[in-house]
Amino acid sequence: MASADRDAALRAVDPAWQTALLADLVRIESINPDTWPGGSGEAAMARRVAAELESLDLSPAVADATPGRTNAVATLKGSGPRTLLLEAHTDTVQVEGMDEPFSARIADGRLYGRGSCDDKASVVAFLGAVRALRRAGVTPPVTVVFAATAGEEFSGIGISTLMEQGLRADGAIVGEPTQLDVVVAHKGVLRSELVVHGRAAHSSSPAEGRNAIDASAAILPALQAAIAPRLAARAHPLVGAPTLAFTQIVGGAGPNTIPERCTVGFDRRLVPGETPETALAELCAALAGLRLPEGVRAEITESTIMGGAMAADPDGPLVRAVLAGARQHRPQAATMGVPYGTDASHIARFGVPTVVFGPGDISQAHAAVEWVDLSEVRLATSIVIDAIFAFAGA
Ligand SMILES: [Zn+2]
Repeated sequence: MASADRDAALRAVDPAWQTALLADLVRIESINPDTWPGGSGEAAMARRVAAELESLDLSPAVADATPGRTNAVATLKGSGPRTLLLEAHTDTVQVEGMDEPFSARIADGRLYGRGSCDDKASVVAFLGAVRALRRAGVTPPVTVVFAATAGEEFSGIGISTLMEQGLRADGAIVGEPTQLDVVVAHKGVLRSELVVHGRAAHSSSPAEGRNAIDASAAILPALQAAIAPRLAARAHPLVGAPTLAFTQIVGGAGPNTIPERCTVGFDRRLVPGETPETALAELCAALAGLRLPEGVRAEITESTIMGGAMAADPDGPLVRAVLAGARQHRPQAATMGVPYGTDASHIARFGVPTVVFGPGDISQAHAAVEWVDLSEVRLATSIVIDAIFAFAGA
């Protein structure tokens, strides 16, 4: 029966519905307001997705992670004991420099606009799989939980809240543009600030002050030199070596004052096996080991962003099932590692095996011209349906 059910579900995939819904979602501005103040957040997206779920007689749970940052979650009960979570995020990055961020224009099989690729295509592809099962009247062999979540582009508040409230599964597919390959490992991130404290003085008498900018100019290369060999030694076969990059610098009160403070933002990318906490401790220890100029003090502040690295067992049931599903429709589908972070880390840290998979190309994400190939969205839906059936027996 499983193969008849699978065939019925695949036949129920509806490309016209997918295109119409994706266009609707792209027309809804859902910029993440944590990073871009004035962004509308995800409430309207959650309502639109919930309306689709309601039309399938699934009773979605629509709830705020924090005010205005809304998740929509629905469960399609399966016949077997396993549960597969399908998760994709509804927020987007800013739209600066874009000519038509919300047009949802379609040309040459592509749909254009902010979020078309990252990540509304995955929302539609996953919801499309749930809809096809439902419309075909098929009870899936595993319980399928669909979650459209808020806040991935900053801290992952949407999925983190759901997991902290007890959402669990035997496996999870996180939708992000992977060009339909299966991402089994990705880096994590720690972002914070190094603050260098000196002493202010009139710039006509620099020796009376302790110049925090001068001190920073010495501390940054020394800190990088202390850390770099350790990072190089931790290279991971799929995602490469961890990195430390200084990304922002703010210092000085005016041109005629010796600066008493200099703040340097940094971005530390983590590989599987590292955690934000261990990376932070390592940086603090390395900083403590540096000899600073007399009268200068330096500290690393509480982190602003933390997301762990992720690595799924390449031989585990989830990876086998998703890869088998992908190869039904794309024989060349492969597993891979990527350097960017996703919501997968917030799921994997609760012990749920997780992969990242979805339509579109990550090079489109956040770009001034963003689009997704509509045939990839349809293919992603079929792959997810096959992954659901494969997961039951994997
Ligand atoms: Zn994304």
